Amino acid sequence: MMQSIQNYWHSFSRLFFPHLCEGCGTDILSDDVLLCPHCFLQLPTTGFFSAPDNPVEQSFYGRVPVAAAAAAFYFTKHSLLQHLLFQLKYKGHQKLGIWLGEQVGSQLATSNRFQPIDIIVPLPLHPKKEKLRGYNQAACIGQGISSIVHKPLVTNAITRAKHTQTQTQKNRSERWQNMEDAFTVLLPEVLQHQHVLLVDDVITTGATLEACSAVLLSVPVASVRIATVAYTIL
Ligand SMILES: [Zn+2]
Repeated sequence: MMQSIQNYWHSFSRLFFPHLCEGCGTDILSDDVLLCPHCFLQLPTTGFFSAPDNPVEQSFYGRVPVAAAAAAFYFTKHSLLQHLLFQLKYKGHQKLGIWLGEQVGSQLATSNRFQPIDIIVPLPLHPKKEKLRGYNQAACIGQGISSIVHKPLVTNAITRAKHTQTQTQKNRSERWQNMEDAFTVLLPEVLQHQHVLLVDDVITTGATLEACSAVLLSVPVASVRIATVAYTIL
């Protein structure tokens, strides 16, 4: 009897208090808000989306001609953002990815530098890895961006072709060749002449995004712009 009252109370309270703040664990009433205002303000916004020559964009100079690139937040160790991205990547928290994508989308939507966009393409995961995880976290982020900018998410036009060999014994151009071979275009007709927004969770060296952009530009697409949730300072 006690157990069923507890169960009842649990489902009852879930109904009215759908979840807690992902940051501090305090109650959040609304289902579509994942962080309380205090935690939300803790996220270190970069301001890169409206900044030409921002550090993310600079990291692609001389490598691949992307029209614009930006990350929404700075990534630091032991931070709230690291916790959120960990939940998204390893704990099955796809809704968090959509929410993070919405934050990227709202920053991106106010920037002329990120127009035009025709389609949103998440950086593909290796199919085996995606099967194991059950989803591609970049696609969750792309879904959130799509809901803000009202452009379609395209997840089946390009794929990760093979496991990338170990990079350590290779020089930079060999590494790049190795990475470029890692992508295969499946539906060129879907990509051709489109302004593409390529999406991922975190940018560190940008090597994978560089290789994927190069493959997209070879289709050819009209342009590639890159948006990520987080930027790691090396
Ligand atoms: Zn909070």
